[in-house]
Amino acid sequence: MELARELTELDGLTGLNNRRTYDIYIDRIWRQSRREQAVLTIMFVDIDHFKAYNDRYGHQSGDDTLKAVADVIAAHAKRPLDFVARYGGEEFVLALYGSPADPNLYPENEAARMHAETLREGIAALQIPHDDSTTGEYLTVSIGVAVILPGARRSLAGAVQMADEALYQAKEEGRNRVVVIQTGDSKFRTGRFRARKPSAA
Ligand code: GH3
Ligand code: MG
Ligand code: MG
Repeated sequence: MELARELTELDGLTGLNNRRTYDIYIDRIWRQSRREQAVLTIMFVDIDHFKAYNDRYGHQSGDDTLKAVADVIAAHAKRPLDFVARYGGEEFVLALYGSPADPNLYPENEAARMHAETLREGIAALQIPHDDSTTGEYLTVSIGVAVILPGARRSLAGAVQMADEALYQAKEEGRNRVVVIQTGDSKFRTGRFRARKPSAA
């Protein structure tokens, strides 16, 4: 990639797409999924107790760890239209266009859950010591997943809100876990959008 594009489209620390690139991409892929009646999966991946990690191990180690986590997430975007970005701070976003697995074998929400679980386990497998985590001995992540099925009448903002709600729930239920919400789920409660303060990038 030429330098000018690299500077404007990628995140300097992790090398992933930056927030600006994400905003442009998600808008396009959202409209594409509406038009093609394809499933769209949005995953928010947030590192658990990362403030405590920085406080204990220092900001430089924090940066190294962010990079290591980003590399694992990037490896989970395998298909041509899969997209991964640093959403901000210690939060990442993964968007999967189309069914995450053969729909004849798994319903979309199960396929999305398996994908997210593999990602969560992949990050745990790094075995990055985190002595000040109250969740476990190693660094963990929580993942909120929104599965938007074709035909659901929902805005992009609503879809993002679903993924955010799922992440909030994963944190609330004890972290180091995946919560999946799909369109039509009645457990979905509105009004808590970005209730948790967004972290500074
Ligand atoms: P939770 O389990 O609820 O997600 O708690 P948390 O501590 O991970 O969340 P919080 O939002 O309180 O803190 C996020 C921390 O991430 C604080 C901030 O210093 C750190 N952080 C954000 N961006 C960077 C970065 O680029 N480098 C480093 N080293 N730390 C960062
Ligand atoms: Mg966090
Ligand atoms: Mg966060």
